[in-house]
Amino acid sequence: MMYSPKHPPVLTVQVDVDTQRNLFSFYGFEEGPGYEDNVTYQHALPRFARLFAEVGIQATFFVIGEDLAHERNRRVIRDLHRDGHEIANHTQTHPYQFCNLSLQDQREEIRQAGQTIAEAIQVAPVGFRAPGYDVTSPTLTVLTELGYQYDSSVMPSILNPVLKLTQSFMNQKGVRSGYGDWRASFAPTQPYHPDSRAVWRAMPSGPLWEIPVASVPYCRLPFYANFNLFSGTTLFRLSAGLASGRDCNYVFHAIELLGPEEIDPRLHRHPNARLSLEDKFTRCRTFLRTLIDGRRPLLSREFARELSAGEVAVPTPESGPLATRLW
Ligand SMILES: [Zn+2]
Repeated sequence: MMYSPKHPPVLTVQVDVDTQRNLFSFYGFEEGPGYEDNVTYQHALPRFARLFAEVGIQATFFVIGEDLAHERNRRVIRDLHRDGHEIANHTQTHPYQFCNLSLQDQREEIRQAGQTIAEAIQVAPVGFRAPGYDVTSPTLTVLTELGYQYDSSVMPSILNPVLKLTQSFMNQKGVRSGYGDWRASFAPTQPYHPDSRAVWRAMPSGPLWEIPVASVPYCRLPFYANFNLFSGTTLFRLSAGLASGRDCNYVFHAIELLGPEEIDPRLHRHPNARLSLEDKFTRCRTFLRTLIDGRRPLLSREFARELSAGEVAVPTPESGPLATRLW
């Protein structure tokens, strides 16, 4: 079952804190001996904090447990937490093809990251995103067992198969890295209780909420910052127009607030990596100011809590997600 948004609808903003080491893996590069990413936590995250403060919102940062081994990174996360942002779980080591891991390994990835985050900020995370949007139904069972309230790994975008193919061509080793089951392309685009046997299918009730990554209503084009920076402002405005009046879960990635001189040259193939920092900052600010218009900003965990409390739970006739009807 899907829910029509209470008025005004909700804006949740999320940041995937993938480092350049993760992007090396995404493209199949060896990072090289002694490589350290000193810019993602030290430069990109404080810039996101500044951007969000300018716009007047708080956001959810999905962090990778192993990155918190460094005290300097833990300090950044503590600062974000102190400023009211949410810290959520993005696994311990960010393994691509997450859904191919054994259930035991998935559990360890989630459990360890949860513990690492709790030790860093003294608050246990309640939200999860799988690396590469690669979630499967057994993962949901693990999340429920570990006390999580929501998952945000489903990307209901029609371009997932294309992006998956493109990524595997660009990967030096030909390795595919995610985007989940193709049926997730047809998952509901608004929050829903995922079926514990099929993550793309909505159920009338359940222990967990799926807060999917935004996609454009009707056509299901991607609707997140990396795609919007790449595809231009006109398409962003059209997409935002189609999404108006609906809840929106808008996703950034940490690299989007790094300048080209801060990004390893091998990653300049990544979309938008060569845009100037000033340009990216300005456009990301415009995205947020557009999306906040007419919406109520909430942390993802607050939204999940509201949904559970039934404050936003109104069944809608348009609920019939394609997925529910087809399989
Ligand atoms: Zn990631």
